[in-house]
Amino acid sequence: MWPKSLQNASGGLGFKGKLPLSTVKRAALCVILFVMPIRSSVVSQVARPFSSYTLADQAQVRVALEWLEKNVTWINDQQSRLTEIPAPSFQEQKRAAAMKALLAEQGLTVQSDKIGNVIGELRGASDKEIVMLTAHLDTVFPEGTDVRVKQEGERLVAPGISDNGTGLAALVGIARAMHIAKVRPQRTILFAANVGEEGEGNLRGMRALIDAYRTKLRAVIVLDGSGVDHVTTKALASRRMEVVITGPGGHSWSDFGIPNPISALVRGSVRFINTKVPVSPRTTFNLGQVEGGTSVNSIPYEAKLKVDLRSESEDELARLETALRECMAAGVKDEMDNARERNRGKLEWKLTNIGSRPGGELPADAALLSALRAADDYVGNQSRLERSSTDANIPLSLGIDAIAIGAGGNGGGAHSLQEWYEPAGRELGLKRVLLTLLGSAGVAPEKGQ
Ligand SMILES: [Zn+2]
Repeated sequence: MWPKSLQNASGGLGFKGKLPLSTVKRAALCVILFVMPIRSSVVSQVARPFSSYTLADQAQVRVALEWLEKNVTWINDQQSRLTEIPAPSFQEQKRAAAMKALLAEQGLTVQSDKIGNVIGELRGASDKEIVMLTAHLDTVFPEGTDVRVKQEGERLVAPGISDNGTGLAALVGIARAMHIAKVRPQRTILFAANVGEEGEGNLRGMRALIDAYRTKLRAVIVLDGSGVDHVTTKALASRRMEVVITGPGGHSWSDFGIPNPISALVRGSVRFINTKVPVSPRTTFNLGQVEGGTSVNSIPYEAKLKVDLRSESEDELARLETALRECMAAGVKDEMDNARERNRGKLEWKLTNIGSRPGGELPADAALLSALRAADDYVGNQSRLERSSTDANIPLSLGIDAIAIGAGGNGGGAHSLQEWYEPAGRELGLKRVLLTLLGSAGVAPEKGQ
């Protein structure tokens, strides 16, 4: 049980120059809380996360920060190596095995769960509470995609190099820095490389992690991509739907006039894309994938469509799902009513939810956000709060403190074959991750203190 109250103390503690008196007092308070063993639940409830200022003054934490500063090349190399192991969602096994070996080398107790998540444990002074640092293993790129990393000037170019090569490399780098510096956390830290974040993975890896550790879990820090200019504290709700329309199928000439599933899908789709959605709360839809038919001269027996629906509002999301259902029903009816040979075959259709990401929001006074702000202050970074769809959706939807952040450096072209990563400045992002993690997990007092 760390620290939920005294939240405001973190602001400004990061500046090493002139410190206002009140700040010094707060820092002193943090030091006191920090060296004081937790004797009662009352004390632990009024305590707060360590500020980065206090943390960075701790000898072992300083060693860990220095290690990150000096070993960027090692971390870059791990990133390239991991990126070159293909890992489409549901086929993460090889990359997971590599992560398992890398985390074990950092002195963690490593295990895999039954869906393929890799979990490395760093036992804290108290094992009653857990903070989790995660990075997803999977990519959106199908098997057979060329994932070799090319160096182009300062850039590393490869599908998945930033999303989520950066997060995975940082996970290993942070574990290594703590191992070498012998940082012992107060709360137990789990380093998790999880499966199934992208697309139809539907956050299954994170769902399993939360199921397994929920009762002890106090915070989740998700490392996803590179940039440090934002922090995701709001979970964007989304639904992924699949429409399947089937019919008897036949010959384009001799069976002309029987209802056609693709025609019905087109009729329904045209209705649906005319649906008005509000600008605020921002609500969007995307017809993302269409399949069906076997040849140009056959009336297809099947047509499929995948649609992505998103909104800042659960109500709007529900409205949009209803609209999709009604439009598809009308499209199928239109096609049947207009078929010349309608008694020679009936269309069937169904709409299936193939993925739901629940919404949620980190409270503005959450201890985890204070820890991040203190870390930002310390490294001299500014970040804005954002709403996005990430692994953090699952803990946030359950009221568990969670954020998703980039792990440092710069990246672009995510989900495209031209994806790139520039490691310059990544040490800032890595230090920010370490300090946020330790701000949330706490550092056990050194012996002799
Ligand atoms: Zn990602």
